[in-house]
Amino acid sequence: MDPNQEKKPHALFIPAPAQGHLNPMLKLAKILHSKGFLITFVNTEFTHRRLLKSQGAAALNTFSTFRFEAIPDGLPPPENTEVTQNVYDICRSTQENCLQPFKTLIGKLSECFAPVTCIVSDLLMGFTLDAAKEVGIPEFIFSTGGAGALVCSEQFPLLLEKGLMPLKDPGDVVNGYLDKTVDSIPCMKGIPLKYIPPFIRYINPGDEFMVEFTNAQIIKAKTASGIIFNTFDDLEHDVLNSLGSVFPPCYAIGPLHLLEANIADKSLASIGSNLWKEEPECIKWLDTKPTSSVVYVNFGSITVMTPQQILEFGWGLANSKHPFLWIMRAGLVSGESDVLPPEFYEETRGRGMVAGWSPQEQVMSHPSIGGFLTHCGWNSTVESISNGVPMICWPFFSDQFPNCWLSCTKWGVAVEIDGGVKRDEIARLVIELMAGEKGKVMRKNVVNWKNKANIASSLPHGSSVIDLEKLIDQLKAL
Ligand code: UDP
Repeated sequence: MDPNQEKKPHALFIPAPAQGHLNPMLKLAKILHSKGFLITFVNTEFTHRRLLKSQGAAALNTFSTFRFEAIPDGLPPPENTEVTQNVYDICRSTQENCLQPFKTLIGKLSECFAPVTCIVSDLLMGFTLDAAKEVGIPEFIFSTGGAGALVCSEQFPLLLEKGLMPLKDPGDVVNGYLDKTVDSIPCMKGIPLKYIPPFIRYINPGDEFMVEFTNAQIIKAKTASGIIFNTFDDLEHDVLNSLGSVFPPCYAIGPLHLLEANIADKSLASIGSNLWKEEPECIKWLDTKPTSSVVYVNFGSITVMTPQQILEFGWGLANSKHPFLWIMRAGLVSGESDVLPPEFYEETRGRGMVAGWSPQEQVMSHPSIGGFLTHCGWNSTVESISNGVPMICWPFFSDQFPNCWLSCTKWGVAVEIDGGVKRDEIARLVIELMAGEKGKVMRKNVVNWKNKANIASSLPHGSSVIDLEKLIDQLKAL
């Protein structure tokens, strides 16, 4: 082992195997590497194979001090290697199968590379805390959703105890019960039940497991050395404070793409994290469009919708008459793939572009983007807010619901598609967002948040920069 390497702190990163977890954790890993850490970034074997395919082996093997490793997730590889694995299956399987391979890896790294001095693990990979305790290494948990979402999930046991959840009758989804508001969730006073992550309704198979799983991860996270969020203090100040009373120290170090740009060594830019191959043509196409004229449409890496919903979104966009860039990743539509008819492409020629995967950070900061039709994944939300782009929300899963509620009601930067996906409603909301009075107000609000995000991530005194320095001190000291 190189004696110089031996003196450096060595951080072991392990994200949950999903795009929205990989991205922010890789950014933090790059920042720490620039601050003198050795990095080992651990993916599941399936994710690692996908990354090799989308990024190329050279991109992952450039640095001897920033290494990738893989452990098995215990699941048979999916037939279609372009789709996100079922989240419930992956949570169950990593919990049951990953502890031993993870411990073996820590041992191997100590022998062959450098002793691991700290672990940065995903909230959903709580088994790592068992390993960390056993081998005596401090561990920090990265909660890749927002702080508001975590405060909701932390309250699951109380909502169940009060009898507010689960639903007594699946019909409650449509009969108004979910509009009932709750005041007991700290800093989320008045949130309607429909915005609490929906597995607590116990409607779909596996929901009960997901609630038990989440509760278990939260209990474990409370024993970690700290909790890391890709958020900034101004945006979630009260929630972060309230979490501080039940969790270990919280570090708000976002928006991480801004901190990465301000701090990380530029030579690391070649290490990408997208699991799908990006289509750079999106940017060239955006270059041809006027300022703030394009609606960007992207539902992230997990959302699945029906062919009918795609048609309604498609005709809504077409009928709005505004230009749009629509990302339809492989696996977005359940069943068949080519659901949009030739007339749709005919109608939107020159005005609409459909692509399989975008370099989203570049898209969001492109001057021609004027609005974002989104599923409210936390990364997308932060990327939108910090680029001053107002949103139309269509939450699909988990923390996307509280993210939507916060964006619409607390931050004033979004409107929600209410009820089902109907083309007339989509067209109306797009027109309102891009050209209406409400759109103007949202734009003003979101530009205000963008400025705050920039201040938070500016060197040397931005709140996120200060929290990052504190985190680094802790990671080195423990
Ligand atoms: N992303 C991207 N290109 C795409 C779609 C998504 O680069 O075409 C990135 C996006 O910038 C974000 C992440 O993938 O960082 C998706 O995370 P998010 O939390 O928004 O949603 P999830 O995929 O977890 O539902």
